[in-house]
Amino acid sequence: MRPTIARVALPVPLDKQFDYLIPSHLFPVVGGRVAVPFGPKTQIGIVTALVSESDFPIEQLKPIKHLIDLQPLWSKSLYQLLHWCSQFYQYPLGDTLFNALPSALRKGKEAEFQSLVEISLTPQGQDQLMAGVKKSAIKQAKALNLLQSGPLSIHALLDEEISHATIKALEEKNWIEKREKRPQIKAWSHQDVETDQFKPKLNEEQAIAIAAVNNHDGFGCFLLEGVTGSGKTEVYLNLIKPVLEQGKQALVLVPEIGLTPQTISRFEKRFNVGVDVVHSGLNDTERLNAWLSGRDKKAGIVIGTRSALLTPFANLGIIIVDEEHDSSYKQQDSLRYHARDVAIMRANKEGIPIVLGSATPALETLHNALNGKYHHLVLAKRAGSAVPTTNKVLDVKGLYLESGLSAPLIAEMRRHLNAGNQVMLFLNRRGFSPALMCHECGWIADCQRCDAYYTYHQNSREIRCHHCGSQKPVIHQCQGCGSTQLVTVGVGTEQLEHQLEQLFPDFKTIRIDRDSTRRKGSLAEALRAIRNNEYQILIGTQMLAKGHHFPNVTLVSLLDIDGSLYSSDFRASERLAQLFIQVAGRAGRESKPGEVILQTHHPEHALLHTLLNKSYHHFAVEALKERKIAALPPFSFLTLFRAEGTQSPIVEDFLRQVRLTLESHPLFDEHCMVLGPTPAPLAKRAGKSRWQLLLQTGMRSQMQKILTSAKPAIQMLPNAKKVRWSIDIEPQDLS
Ligand code: ADP
Ligand code: ZN
Ligand code: ZN
Repeated sequence: MRPTIARVALPVPLDKQFDYLIPSHLFPVVGGRVAVPFGPKTQIGIVTALVSESDFPIEQLKPIKHLIDLQPLWSKSLYQLLHWCSQFYQYPLGDTLFNALPSALRKGKEAEFQSLVEISLTPQGQDQLMAGVKKSAIKQAKALNLLQSGPLSIHALLDEEISHATIKALEEKNWIEKREKRPQIKAWSHQDVETDQFKPKLNEEQAIAIAAVNNHDGFGCFLLEGVTGSGKTEVYLNLIKPVLEQGKQALVLVPEIGLTPQTISRFEKRFNVGVDVVHSGLNDTERLNAWLSGRDKKAGIVIGTRSALLTPFANLGIIIVDEEHDSSYKQQDSLRYHARDVAIMRANKEGIPIVLGSATPALETLHNALNGKYHHLVLAKRAGSAVPTTNKVLDVKGLYLESGLSAPLIAEMRRHLNAGNQVMLFLNRRGFSPALMCHECGWIADCQRCDAYYTYHQNSREIRCHHCGSQKPVIHQCQGCGSTQLVTVGVGTEQLEHQLEQLFPDFKTIRIDRDSTRRKGSLAEALRAIRNNEYQILIGTQMLAKGHHFPNVTLVSLLDIDGSLYSSDFRASERLAQLFIQVAGRAGRESKPGEVILQTHHPEHALLHTLLNKSYHHFAVEALKERKIAALPPFSFLTLFRAEGTQSPIVEDFLRQVRLTLESHPLFDEHCMVLGPTPAPLAKRAGKSRWQLLLQTGMRSQMQKILTSAKPAIQMLPNAKKVRWSIDIEPQDLS
């Protein structure tokens, strides 16, 4: 019998689906979009089942308005993966499915290639530019100038602060024209997928790693643990080649696109196939096209950040997760998934290999490699001509620090700079100084809406709260005693920059952090200038640490790392070790030997010893032993409940009730523990009180079962609607 009712998932934060009648002339499919009435509005939904009975009286059901897709949007395996995500991460199915779609499809657009609109100069516009544009039309002149070097999309112009009105005015004068640009599609044949560019001869370790993956059938998870510059990317390229030759596609995940232009161009140059790049900077049309080109096999390789994971593929053959330890793979809001973990599940469902590459594997990943759950492949030597760095701990106890710099470090910098090399300094704190204090009474300027101090930004003459974003002009008088003796406390990147300009007037300094790279394109420009040797001193937050290849950097130093050695976050030491190795990988990648200096007040710290004198691997093995003793992940499984609201007692009470609900669950046994409710590390943000509760279980499946059956009860708690709360499965960040 033909089903009469369609069950529809809607993008609403509810753990349920909605039933609609199927009109006799419509034939909906599971996994396809439909338009349905929802309250006073029409909503786009996704059909999840076709049935003949409903829990609701038939006469109360409304009919589907129309169909958008006649075919399912996803393959069976990807559709199942999305269901798994919804269950595992305790996130409503409708929201999960919609999260996986490009926004054009969420809005109901056809799943078809869209042409991009490009704007270019007309001959008249060209003449006008030559003749000079009136002073009164600065914006128009700017637009014409931008277009002089070639056509641009509307979005690119909007990014440069050219308004729609300006574009319209220019169009009316006939100085510019709009043209449709069909997406470029490179057809690929399976025989000569590889271009005949220079390819290094593989070394033995690389050959072994490649053979191990190639000789494996079906699903398999491989950790490729290779020191920086050991040729991991070369391994990826060699693994992708046979996949493309079989007519299959490859998915490559990277932590941050803006930071890896060189890697992307290596893929593009190596293969005669379409390479699509997916990241958060794409506009709606570009994103839709990328999604379609994976699905319709227009792209052989899709490279992208976290969200590229859910790209559909006609025939996926391999997944590669580069820098698998990177915390940007974990989404911090809405569907809080970990792209690496979901990628492993995807490979499993598709029956294909997945390769996790890193010089500094996450402890969870390493644990699985050591216990045999994953295959462990090792590249121990740097490929090519690069030599390992020399690492030094610099004890700064009792030394005078000039904006955070010790005299021995300054001397060492001078030596490297005078030799014509570049020097790189890391300081993970932007702004001029993290606090502004009264010299007479000790009062510190603090944000009224958060439990936090204002950061002083000298360049913009402001104080800003880095937690709620509030900012105000810098104050000159203490609000406690009225004194005007306000002093800065601590050092941020801005201050370091000032200091270095004074210490080294003959060399040029550049700062890379979120403040200095706010404008689109400015990061790429800065990276280019650095590679061009236009700057000799590079300072930055960890933004600067990821994946850049600066052959002329020979000295790298980490400043102010002591906080991470004694942090309350159990992952802080792992992150510091990863940062250290990454940073060390920035030095001496070419023929010049590199040096890494770590300034610390705790040179005797055991972690630093193992890390510097042995290796990351040794450190990781030690750290795993500590995790085991403390029953921390990967030896237990965590779920963090976060809640916030204007009334602190209500928030706390809600989490206390959550605790009772969890503890009274039949599966809650002696391997389980609930910690809290405790105030969040930042107890107040933007005027809201914040509390948290941590559930720890011995097994992942146990955690799953407890949460799945406790969640409806939690949603029914009297205060559940009075506070904002969320569940973070396997949180990466406990704040
Ligand atoms: P990783 O991804 O581990 O940082 P890459 O694949 O980028 O390493 O390799 C680092 C450098 O060494 C690159 O310039 C690469 O071309 C070169 N390289 C890689 N493998 C070999 C090899 N087998 N022989 C010579 N050079 C190699
Ligand atoms: Zn604030
Ligand atoms: Zn004072």
